Amino acid sequence: MKPYWGGRFSTAAGGKGANQAVAAARAGGNVAFVAKLGRDMFGDKALEGLKADHIDTAGVSRDPEAPSGVAEIFVSDSGENSIAVASGANARLQPDVIKKAEASLESADILVMQLEIPLQTIQAAAELALKYNLTTILNPAPAQPLSDELLNTVDIITPNESETRLLTGIEVQDNDSAQKAADILHAKGIGTVIITLGKKGVYISDQNTGEHIPGFSVKAVDTTAAGDVFNGALAVGLAEKQPLQNAIKFANAAAALSVTQLGAQPSAPHRDAILNLLKGKENS
Ligand code: ADP
Repeated sequence: MKPYWGGRFSTAAGGKGANQAVAAARAGGNVAFVAKLGRDMFGDKALEGLKADHIDTAGVSRDPEAPSGVAEIFVSDSGENSIAVASGANARLQPDVIKKAEASLESADILVMQLEIPLQTIQAAAELALKYNLTTILNPAPAQPLSDELLNTVDIITPNESETRLLTGIEVQDNDSAQKAADILHAKGIGTVIITLGKKGVYISDQNTGEHIPGFSVKAVDTTAAGDVFNGALAVGLAEKQPLQNAIKFANAAAALSVTQLGAQPSAPHRDAILNLLKGKENS
């Protein structure tokens, strides 16, 4: 293959779970994060960043053998991204780690999960969440098939369009097809289906009643982590007991702001900026 010359290189902290945790913390949430990092400089940096955002990292352990998970992300001039991930320590986050974090789950309102860690660990977390009556949000990304058992323990699922296609076989093109996809997920026992539609916002179906909630119009520079920021902010909105539609608007605003900046975690906005966009004010 011919090399491509040009472009700019930069490194920034990322990883879906960490992005969601940082987005939630900056959006105003009180966040505890459970994860596994390598004992390397990427792990050191990641931990430093989480602490700087006032995230409780008691549930973050360091793996003596595996490196920290990393991803190489290519961003096109139009802001679209393609990603190659080396999972490293993420793949070694086993259910025992969740057991150790039981105390922070017990006192939480919302549990956010994503698929960059083993499925059995997600299942274990979802079951503990059920025990303590937490609301669970599953962001089914990166896309992969999921068992009915797991789907049945989830309260809210937030697939994007390609994840929706993989989970339901339905190509989301309009409200009707989005509702068809949502109904398939409702039939698996999920009460609230939020299909994220990029700049178009989301399609939300709550207990089989659906509507489109538009996104915010911004100049996209880098869409990396838009979904992560959406999930983190959504969790905050729901933990604050905002009505579902308001929590979605809050999350749409946070995610829209994130696409105006380069990078995963650097692009997660702070609460003031989110509230300003919601109020229709200019953000500096
Ligand atoms: P993912 O990043 O997981 O592929 P989406 O592309 O659907 O997910 O984006 C998640 C959310 O981020 C959207 O529902 C929307 O709120 C926001 N978003 C994404 N892209 C844009 C954009 N270009 N302009 C405004 N908001 C966006």
